[in-house]
Amino acid sequence: MQIPFHRPYITDEEINEVIDSLKKGWITMGKKTIDFESKFKDYIGSKNAIAVNSCTAGLHLALRAIGLKEGDEVIVPATTFVATAEVVNYFKAKPVLIDIEKDTHLIDASKIEEKITPKTKVIIPVHFSGQPADMDEILEIAKKYNLYFIEDAAHALPAWYKDKKIGTIGDLTAFSFYATKTLATGEGGMVTTEKDEWAEKIRILRLHGISKDAWKRYSKEGSWEYDVIENGYKYNTTDINSALGLAQLNKLEWMWKEREKIANLYNKAFTGCEELILYKVKEDRISSWHLYPLKLNIEALKIDRNQFIEELKNRGVGTSVHFIPLYRFSYYKNHFNYKVEDFLNSEWIFERVISLPIFPGMNLEEINYVIENVIDIVKKYKR
Ligand SMILES: *Cc1c(COP(=O)(O)O)cnc(C)c1O
Repeated sequence: MQIPFHRPYITDEEINEVIDSLKKGWITMGKKTIDFESKFKDYIGSKNAIAVNSCTAGLHLALRAIGLKEGDEVIVPATTFVATAEVVNYFKAKPVLIDIEKDTHLIDASKIEEKITPKTKVIIPVHFSGQPADMDEILEIAKKYNLYFIEDAAHALPAWYKDKKIGTIGDLTAFSFYATKTLATGEGGMVTTEKDEWAEKIRILRLHGISKDAWKRYSKEGSWEYDVIENGYKYNTTDINSALGLAQLNKLEWMWKEREKIANLYNKAFTGCEELILYKVKEDRISSWHLYPLKLNIEALKIDRNQFIEELKNRGVGTSVHFIPLYRFSYYKNHFNYKVEDFLNSEWIFERVISLPIFPGMNLEEINYVIENVIDIVKKYKR
């Protein structure tokens, strides 16, 4: 059997929405995007939602909205996808890395305060694997030091912290619709915020800093005339992507339930196996289960994490690793002086972690095949 790490869940609904866009002949940003933004905003319960062409673009524009400057410092987790820190570098600002927690892989809120300096402007937590970060603790620190709070919610659609949905808590929140994410449009992203002024600024910046959206320019009520009021970017999405987004939004909660079901089956099967370390979700939050991270108790095994991945691959099971810690990359070694000793949990997790396949449409036979093979490899190589 061959089980890929991920398979997007695309049905006739998505296909027909895209065909509708193509037949109408409006293939860049237009009515479907406006509709997608509106439905997304209603689903999240946020005041504003602005569609962009990636979460990375969304994080960049969020930092532009709050006015990040050269030399500023931004707090990010040491283990995240590179995009979280890359956008800070766009400003010649400095990503200040904080170690993550051993059991949740979330930014360790208790280690943030000691890294705050007069230059610190923003905290960007990542809701790793779909589990919300420690929002109360981070909000308190942000308030105490007058910092902005921008959420990297690339994994967290949908996710809840206490009774609040992610996308309504921080100053600005960026979601990803990349091919493997929980709502997939190929490429895409969305920024939510309660503040109209930031929303307006992001709307302008996403399309060259033009004062009116181009789609309005070309519609009946629009005109050829426009002004450029900011130095902006080409970060708008298209109606083809938004067509996929509209169809995916309709089945978002069903897809989440499907992933949750798979996570529960994995958890049940691996509980009590001392060679494996289960990922912990804290009690007061609900995960989107974008990822299923599983750690190996390598002290109890004769093979390492990489060999375990090879074994699974040889049996047809696709996996991945989330993430290579940022300070391990050449660029970050060459440009900053991070010290590995500051990130012992990141190192510990990186040596042990594997992401197993978890996606809607994965059938019981496939789920059981993954479980059986993980357990079989453990049995074969246990010390
Ligand atoms: C995928 C991802 C991003 C980037 O999303 P894009 O839409 O591809 O730009 C950012 N942060 C994290 C944690 C991610 O996993």
